[in-house]
Amino acid sequence: MNRVIVIGAGASGLAAAIAAAKGGARVAVVERGHALGRKVLASGAGRCNLTHARVPPENYHGGKPAFVGEVLSRFGGEDARRFFSELGLLTVEEPDGRVFPRCGRAHAVLDVLKAELDRLGVEVRLGVEASAVSKLAAGFVVKTKAVPWKKGAAPTHDAGPAELSCDRLILACGGASYPQLGGTEAGYGLARSLGHSITPLRPSLVPLLVKESAIKRLHGLRVEAGLRVFRGPRELGRGQGEVLFTEYGLSGPAALDVSRGAVLALAGGPVDGSLDLFPEYSPQDLRTMIAGRWSSRLKRTVKDFFVGMFPAQLTGAMVDALGLDAHRRLDSLGAGACERLSALLQDWRFQITGARGWEEAMVTAGGVGVDEVDPRTFGSRKTAGLFLTGELLDVDGDSGGYNLHFAWASGLAAGRSAAQT
Ligand SMILES: Cc1cc2nc3c(=O)[nH]c(=O)nc-3n(C[C@H](O)[C@H](O)[C@H](O)COP(=O)(O)OP(=O)(O)OC[C@H]3O[C@@H](n4cnc5c(N)ncnc54)[C@H](O)[C@@H]3O)c2cc1C
Repeated sequence: MNRVIVIGAGASGLAAAIAAAKGGARVAVVERGHALGRKVLASGAGRCNLTHARVPPENYHGGKPAFVGEVLSRFGGEDARRFFSELGLLTVEEPDGRVFPRCGRAHAVLDVLKAELDRLGVEVRLGVEASAVSKLAAGFVVKTKAVPWKKGAAPTHDAGPAELSCDRLILACGGASYPQLGGTEAGYGLARSLGHSITPLRPSLVPLLVKESAIKRLHGLRVEAGLRVFRGPRELGRGQGEVLFTEYGLSGPAALDVSRGAVLALAGGPVDGSLDLFPEYSPQDLRTMIAGRWSSRLKRTVKDFFVGMFPAQLTGAMVDALGLDAHRRLDSLGAGACERLSALLQDWRFQITGARGWEEAMVTAGGVGVDEVDPRTFGSRKTAGLFLTGELLDVDGDSGGYNLHFAWASGLAAGRSAAQT
């Protein structure tokens, strides 16, 4: 029977521990935090968007597309739902394909994982950090240290032995994002010490800083929109969905989805952004709709033209951007005003000057190079008996359940292989 140690009790570590124990291994999990699955609990704004009905490789970045393709061909959205269904979790699929626990609470996801760990007799050590790992002729030694409840305080709990040994080691330490929920670069150091290389780390799925005060003034407003980012004529990314205006710029799923390309390009200076406030219209259909509305309201004011189209704050921003007087009648404006409005509605330009930091980045882009890992088993190609999972790897997904999906997929494959090989 293999003795398996899993470092990290996040999404991928919990899945790995379950699969390894089901495969007949004796499993211990060490977690430096004092609770399991803290990101799982925070995910999906407390609802946990645990997977997606459709999980194509195009929704993933970093690494090599062939690596992710191989992983997803073995574990798709239905497989994730089946895994959780077998644990007793009821899930629902929203119209856009995102999958949540039916009860709407992330706690339910963690509860079924915990119940399975208990049932399988997995030992979980909380408040215990793996400070170093070393490879022996057969197996590994993991050096541990107790982590206090509060920074600076003395540890008051029994962290167990200072060294643990095992036949198979699973690094499920996650990425650097959201340090307040356990995000750390520690796992990259452990992977490096076992022969792995790390591609550059960058915050991703992160809110964007915008220069224009016209955008920042709208803070609190949410709209369904399309969002694109550019450097000169080159498109760096596009997203569609909810956009949240904030006092510093833009957030919400569509902004987070374009942040990856923007953050990468920001190293070379500001990046241009464009908002499409009518993403469901083709440019021609929008021009026809706006022209019809314009000609049927010629005796009304500019301000009245927008009533029923937009919230009042957005009307003000559009009027300012077009340089119009809100109280002028449409029939007193030049012929080009209607055309300019149609163009603005689908291409409202602004400048992205930066991004919020690790504290607000939902995931880490970059990590352990995927060339160094077998996509079928998540076994290391550098160190026999070592497995690496989840966000620690150079794979990051769009928002929509893709990151947790990858955590389950990698954790289950690694756990199964660690028990068997
Ligand atoms: C606010 C927020 C919301 C999110 N919402 C979603 C969502 O709805 N859907 C989605 O798909 N994704 C979401 N994500 C992303 C998703 O949560 C992560 O991609 C996923 O949790 C990664 O799993 P992981 O196991 O790789 O790492 P983690 O879940 O981060 O777990 C790693 C664990 O390892 C521990 N650890 C690290 N180093 C050591 C060490 N040396 N010793 C002991 N323990 C260690 C850490 O404390 C941590 O608990 C969200 C992320 C955040 C921050």
